[in-house]
Amino acid sequence: MTAVGAVPPVEPPSARRTSLGTVLRHVADHGRGSRAAIAGATGLNKSTVSNLVAVLIELGLLREVPAEAPPRAVGRPGRLVELRDGGVAALGLEVNVDYRAVLATDLTGRVRARSLVEEDHRGADPETVLAALADQTRDVITDLARQGLRPVAAAVAVPGLVDVAAGRLMLAPNLRWRDAPVAELLGAALGAPELPVRVDNEANLAAYAELRDGAGRGCSHLVHVSGQIGVGAGLIVDGRIFRGASGFGGELGHITVDLDGLPCACGSRGCLETVVGQEALLARAHVSVPPGVPSRRLTQTLARQARAGDARTLNALRAGGKALGVALATVANLFDPDVIVLGGAYAELSPWLVPPVRSELRGRVIAARWSTIDVAVSALGQEASALGAAALIVDDVLADPAAMRAPAA
Ligand SMILES: [Zn+2]
Repeated sequence: MTAVGAVPPVEPPSARRTSLGTVLRHVADHGRGSRAAIAGATGLNKSTVSNLVAVLIELGLLREVPAEAPPRAVGRPGRLVELRDGGVAALGLEVNVDYRAVLATDLTGRVRARSLVEEDHRGADPETVLAALADQTRDVITDLARQGLRPVAAAVAVPGLVDVAAGRLMLAPNLRWRDAPVAELLGAALGAPELPVRVDNEANLAAYAELRDGAGRGCSHLVHVSGQIGVGAGLIVDGRIFRGASGFGGELGHITVDLDGLPCACGSRGCLETVVGQEALLARAHVSVPPGVPSRRLTQTLARQARAGDARTLNALRAGGKALGVALATVANLFDPDVIVLGGAYAELSPWLVPPVRSELRGRVIAARWSTIDVAVSALGQEASALGAAALIVDDVLADPAAMRAPAA
């Protein structure tokens, strides 16, 4: 295990450790199976698989279950192995503009404990917010302990540009945070050196959660777009988070959709965010915004007005959906995704956004005649980013199970 604040081990694991990961990943992907079936599928020989399975059972990651004997079967039924849903847990955390979330999943991805606190974090001191997040995390760990689960690491989703290797948030305009050492501060506040902390961008993590357990399950190329306060997008290419050269890709909100449009907070003008960002939608729909109202409530107001047939709201959503479709058509022409997932506020506004988005994709994506891009709506809700964060930790365990210490007996 690495020290608090550092990312998990980067040195290549030995061949044996790699094989442990191969076996565990196979069981995670294919469900319970016999040692012989695992050997057949992975190309490892049977006695090697038996040894590896014994280690994985000892580490608390796999368990043995009796095979169901077919009726009238002759002889003793065999033993199968499956992922253990007790033992190890992954912590997925999120700090966002008006809430913070902590959840924990077991290795099967099932949520075993969760906590959500709504609080306005705009302009708040990172150290104070992360100390509160640490308290919330400790409560979740206590809940896990009661279920016999032990967290092995935590990942934190944050709404801004992240230096993933250093665990630092470089810039989060909506929180007004700049150059915050999130992994280090949270690690210190948790005071649990055995619990490594990593940090990633919330949009990336939401996209990853959709790929693993949401609307993009079974896909390899996915775009997830959400409009909570800014317009965030996460790209999955070949099953992996696309980060670009410096990890700062995916800023869909600042694609130009109107050459002579309104000035944007980023310094440019006519950015997508100036048309379909939440502030822009609210202004066009003539919704007055009292200070401190959580953005989720504002989205609900927009949806309520749209359902009531308010003309200004419907116009704002039509124009916003069209601009979103134009921007997504550009992304689709470049990346050729299987699916575009609308999440965050856009999931709630999807009845009004999906038709103009589909129409723009049909008209502007060059390959639209041969392949229709699926436009799907997220079902993971506000927890998407925290779920993606926990999924990263589960991936770390599956890739290098030997890095996890055995649970105390
Ligand atoms: Zn901009």
